[in-house]
Order: sequence, then structure tokens, then C-alpha cells
Amino acid sequence: MSQFDYDLITIGAGSGGVRASRMAAKYGARVAIVEELRVGGTCVLRGCVPKKLLVYGSHMLEEIHDMAGYGWTVEGVSHDWPKLIAAKDKEMDRLNGIYLKLLAGCDVLDGRGVVIDPHTVEVAGKRYTAERIVIATGGWPTLPDIPGMEHAITSNEALDLPQRPEKIVIVGSGYIAVEFAGIFNAYGVETHLVFRADKVLRGFDEDVRTTLTEEMAKKGVHLHAGVLPSKVEKTGAGFRVHLNDGSTLDVDQVMAATGRAPNTKGIGLETVGVELTATGAVRVDEYSRTNVPSIWAIGDVTDRIQLTPVALAEGMAFTETEFNNNPIMPDHDDVPAAVFSQPPVGTVGLSEHEARKTYGEVDVYVSGFRPMKYTLTENTERGMQKLIVDRATQRVVGAHMVGLDAPEIIQGIGIAVRMGATKKDFDRTIGIHPTAAEEFVTMREKRPDPEQAQAAE
Ligand code: NDP
Repeated sequence: MSQFDYDLITIGAGSGGVRASRMAAKYGARVAIVEELRVGGTCVLRGCVPKKLLVYGSHMLEEIHDMAGYGWTVEGVSHDWPKLIAAKDKEMDRLNGIYLKLLAGCDVLDGRGVVIDPHTVEVAGKRYTAERIVIATGGWPTLPDIPGMEHAITSNEALDLPQRPEKIVIVGSGYIAVEFAGIFNAYGVETHLVFRADKVLRGFDEDVRTTLTEEMAKKGVHLHAGVLPSKVEKTGAGFRVHLNDGSTLDVDQVMAATGRAPNTKGIGLETVGVELTATGAVRVDEYSRTNVPSIWAIGDVTDRIQLTPVALAEGMAFTETEFNNNPIMPDHDDVPAAVFSQPPVGTVGLSEHEARKTYGEVDVYVSGFRPMKYTLTENTERGMQKLIVDRATQRVVGAHMVGLDAPEIIQGIGIAVRMGATKKDFDRTIGIHPTAAEEFVTMREKRPDPEQAQAAE
């Protein structure tokens, strides 16, 4: 018999923690998983899933407008916000139930897990020992250090608002800010996006940033680029947001979407000497192991790439390595990603800027398009597709898209990019007609290099 109560104790029952725990149990390990909120974690209960349901719902009004172009007359459209939130909550309950079922082979311990020593975790006043401990506590939204910002909601509360706001300021222009700006705007909320960059989605390919910024503005989101709130004041009816360009915005809701910090405080990591990075994330090696040999960390708490499928891959790699004698390092290269903005973004590989830095000379293919679906409508939304090719090897090193179905399309393109497909491989693939996706296999015109373009001017 083992000297420990369990082979594995996981702290945090989000996507990564649940995956690692249930797979370890499948391999015969005795597993306990600790959760202080509800089993399911950020993605399932406070992020990706409820957010995408709200995206679907919000987009429907635009579809109703588009219907006119196809001959439909729709009358008497109204929206019931509390009904939407209740339906979403019901789905959250269902998913929570599914996650609990997935954990049937594990003991689920309710409460906050605190590491006491390298093999002991305390939960609700009781101590449990394990040969291995996995920290999978995820992250939590941060608020910028601006007076009055404590009045702001974050994505946690934005998904649970009892009433639809009339007017909202969202601070930030990353994933969460642009996704929620799209949601609120499409539900008819006067939406102001306040951000310090010149365009949304800093870090993404410049053509993605430009296209999305333009399209969001066209859809009616009020973009306040290059400014920040200097103060948020509570007023009788709502809030007055003072911007550092001297203007003010009176709104009934303020939302901060300014990043998420790893949940590493108050769980005993300092007691056992687990090393953290400068940003407060758990420092791990390529097998997700911390400097304490019996403790691993996976998912957002390690701040490698804050995406659910990455946490799943890290959890899986840990379990394979430790419980199936099959050492696997999670692979963080060419991770496809999507932003469920309106229109959405799909991306894999390097931006043009990164590719030029990495490879020097690159060939760039860009195409703008108007989705066929909108040709009979008054919808002026346009999309963009882009391929970036290493000139020396002709390997496609980046693929980016803004527009209808971009996340669905880029998932497939991601396989080709990861397999090392060349531009020729793309070119000799027959397109599916008529689709937007076919553009990725029919792009023939290279965009002139920036220097050549300048010389030609
Ligand atoms: P991001 O890192 O994507 O964006 C943070 C935003 O906040 C940026 O616009 C940043 O500005 C701004 N910001 C940061 N600090 C300040 C400050 N002090 N004052 C003003 N602005 C500030 O974080 P999010 O919160 O949007 O999302 C967190 C993570 O969650 C994402 O990185 C992503 O990995 C994940 N996520 C993934 C989703 C998906 O896969 N679809 C959806 C939602 C979240 P600047 O650009 O100027 O630095």
C-alpha cells in the first residue's frame, strides 16, 4: 500500500485540472480533485462557453436585418434579457453536472485547497496526502489601478447581469474586451471601447487588427483609441467615466477587460517554496513540473498560453508522463486561436511582423472579401484572409482570417500549418466552391514587400 492517501491531488477543477484528474483515474490512479467554486472552471462556467452562447444570441438581430434582403419580413422583434441569462444558467448547470459525472472516478473535495507540505493538501480543515500534487487554479480578472475602478465589473459579472445595460464602457482591447464589445453592441447596448493602443488586439497580425477595428466601428461600437480612463465616479444613476483626453462618458455599467492574473495567492505555494515567475505565475519545466519535485502546475496558473485547449493538452501530457509511462511535453508552437468578436478572428502561426523577424524574407498574400451571404443584404461587413510564407522554404508560417466562420476555417488550416505545408501544397488543394475558405487555396498575388512598395510610390 502507498504511504499516501492518494496518488494525485489536483487543486482546481477547471478544464486542465479535470482533464488531468479524470485521465489519471482512468489509468488506475487514486485521485482527489479540490474545487472551492463549482466544478467546470472559468472556460465552462465563466468564460468561453457562456460567452459564446451570448455571441450566438447577440448575432441573431443582425441576421434578422439580413433576412430582409432575402425577402423576409419580420415584425415585432423584442428581446428578453433575463430569459437569456436564465437559459444560459440552465446550460451552465447541465455542464456542471456533466463535469461532475466525468469525475466519477475521483474524490471531489469541496473547499479551498492549501498546500501544507510537498505531499499534503488541506481542504476545509482536513489534511490529505498525495504522491503528486497538481496546481490547476487558473486565473482571475485584474482591475487596472485607476481611481474608482472598483466599481467596474469583469467578464465574471458581465455574463450574469440581471438586466441589459443601456450604455457601457469597456476598458481594454484584448480578447475579452472585443468579444464583449461585440456582444453588448449587438444586443443594442451603446458600447464604448476605451483602450490605450491605436487599434484593437495588440500582438495580433496588423491586417487582423486593422480589419477588426474598422469592422467594429462600422457595426456601431464607439472606439476610443489611445485613451484611458483617469477616474470612475459613482453618480446617482450609474457612473461617470473621466477619460485622459478630458472627455467624460456617463454610463450605467463599466467593465474592465484588462487581463487575467494567475491564481497563486493563498494556496500555500510560498510555504513549500514553489517558484513563481515575475508575473506571479507558477514556474514550470517543459513537463509542467515545478521546482518542488512532487508538485506540477498546468493551465492559466502557469501563464504559458491562456487558452483552454492548451490547458487540456498540458493536463493530458502530465497524465501520460506520470501515469502511463509515456513521457510527453506539451507543444506550445503554432497553437491556433480564435477571437469571437463580430466579425470573428481565426489565427495560427506567426503574424507578418513576427515572421519577418524570424525568417527575414517572407511572401505575403492578402485578400479582402465581402461574404457571399451578405451580397443580397445591406450588411456591409467585410473580411480579410492572409497567408504568410517563409520565402526560402515556401512553408506557410502564418494564416489569419477575420470574417464569418473564421474560427471554424482556421482550425483546419492549423493542421496544414503544423504539418509544415508549403504554399504549393495550399495551391494544389482544390477549393470548395462557393466558400470563403477556398480563398486560402486560390491566393496567387503576392503583396509587394514594404520596401518595394515604398520604392514604387
Ligand atoms: P488580453 O491580454 O487579451 O488583453 C488585455 C487588454 O487590457 C489589452 O488591451 C491591454 O492593453 C489592456 N490593459 C492591460 N493593462 C491595462 C491597464 N493597466 N490599463 C489599461 N489597459 C490595460 O486579456 P483579456 O483580459 O482580454 O483576456 C485574458 C486572456 O484570456 C487572453 O489573453 C486569452 O489568452 C484568454 N481568452 C481567450 C479567449 C478566446 O480564446 N477566444 C477569450 C477570452 C479570453 P495593451 O494591448 O495596450 O497592452
